[in-house]
Amino acid sequence: MSNQPNILFIMADDHAAKAISAYKAGINETPNIDRIAQEGMRFDHCYVTNSICTPSRAAILTGTYNHVNGVTTLNTPLNNRLPNVAKHLQTGGYETAIVGKWHLGEGKDHEPTGFDYWSVLPGQGEYFDPFMIEMERDVEVSGYVTDIVTDKSLNWLEKRNKNKPFFLMCHHKAPHREWEPHPKYRDIYKDNIKVPETFHDDYKNRAKAAAEAKMRIKDDMTYADLGLVQPEGGLEVGQRSTATSTRRKIPNPEDVTNLRLIDKETGEAFTFETKDELSHFKYQRYLKRYLRTIASIDEGIGRLLDYLDENQLSENTVVIYTSDQGFFLGEHGWFDKRFIYEQSLQMPFLIRYPEKIMPAQICSSICCNVDFAPTFLDLAGLRIPSYMQGISLMPLLKGSEPDNWPQIAYHRYWMHRDPDHNAYAHYGIRTQSYKLIYWYNEGYSLPGTNQGGQDREWELFDCKKDPLELFNVFSDPNYQEVVAMMKTALQKKMMEIGDEPEH
Ligand code: CA
Repeated sequence: MSNQPNILFIMADDHAAKAISAYKAGINETPNIDRIAQEGMRFDHCYVTNSICTPSRAAILTGTYNHVNGVTTLNTPLNNRLPNVAKHLQTGGYETAIVGKWHLGEGKDHEPTGFDYWSVLPGQGEYFDPFMIEMERDVEVSGYVTDIVTDKSLNWLEKRNKNKPFFLMCHHKAPHREWEPHPKYRDIYKDNIKVPETFHDDYKNRAKAAAEAKMRIKDDMTYADLGLVQPEGGLEVGQRSTATSTRRKIPNPEDVTNLRLIDKETGEAFTFETKDELSHFKYQRYLKRYLRTIASIDEGIGRLLDYLDENQLSENTVVIYTSDQGFFLGEHGWFDKRFIYEQSLQMPFLIRYPEKIMPAQICSSICCNVDFAPTFLDLAGLRIPSYMQGISLMPLLKGSEPDNWPQIAYHRYWMHRDPDHNAYAHYGIRTQSYKLIYWYNEGYSLPGTNQGGQDREWELFDCKKDPLELFNVFSDPNYQEVVAMMKTALQKKMMEIGDEPEH
């Protein structure tokens, strides 16, 4: 198979589609990531099956849903004896590597398998001078994590066995919380960033989960999230932000006397009279820090694409840019993810492969992260094993949707009322027109869950008429046919993938 393409899979952590300029939200510029879209295809309905890091990574690697691969929560590591796509590519003739965030567990039973080379961050990893585990060895690498992941990826590409096609997973830590930009990007984005129209959402007309979640920019951000310290009794200016004291939530001016916040890098002081003033400050500071970490990713993508050009590899290399899930950037007043609501459910997905994909294509078909592994194998001309539950995206890459294309994405979040975010457990489906959600509200003692038993609720959103997801129409008499149709579709989907409905 001399013409097997190389596969360069680049994945960021928590990168919302809205923060890639190819998606045209107008909040930042990512010219290098955009190149992949301009020279290839942008997917607008690519969805995650469980909107948190670890489960999404397991789904991507194994091509299976989380009730099958067992990685249902952030604290359930991957059994690395399971087959995965890297192992299949490796036996199919590929040289394989993973660099950067792994987050599927550590130690003999959970470290990467199927990779000829691996150098990964333990846990979430640090932004500056991170520890890394490199082929079972602990190393501390000095520098900024995004640059390190790019450097190590380029280094491996240069030293790889050039007689084989390569499969490289380049996994960035950024733009994960706590959004620490490289010093050279600390001052970009001077102007205010526009505030989403649902920023002041009151969570009326919705299931209780939305109001109960502790993911609000106004109330739930910590000092560390925003690179701030307290003027006294807290950290010194310049100290690293990992200390427990900075993980405290920032109080509101109404609740304390003389709230002063200090920039941990510059020592600049900020004071606030009202909660509104502080909310505005938090939103801007959060978005800017988040977007500044993305500037480094974009720079790294530019270097990788340049390397492919300079080494005549661009034609025969599939380049993918995605994120392990979406992220709220102030929609519904939130940061974070976890929910089946759109900004968290949608994964950015850009793919370039000049041999098969025409430039500047946009794909509106529904697909999900479980489909990635079968797609890699299909691209490599290898057999897709029957245990994989996704399907290859190859037919879509040719520019049209086949008649029998699946029209449903399934999402299930298991970590009921996790201590940090209090997000409720739910499952549901999204079609092109509707989204049905069942808040079953049980943790079943899974790691990282809390007491269940809250009232169970259903939600139905009309994705075309209510794209902002503000009106639950589940009980609206005009939608009862849709409710019945969506409930049947949900039941059928769960049967098909073997997940157990809650009663
Ligand atoms: Ca993530």
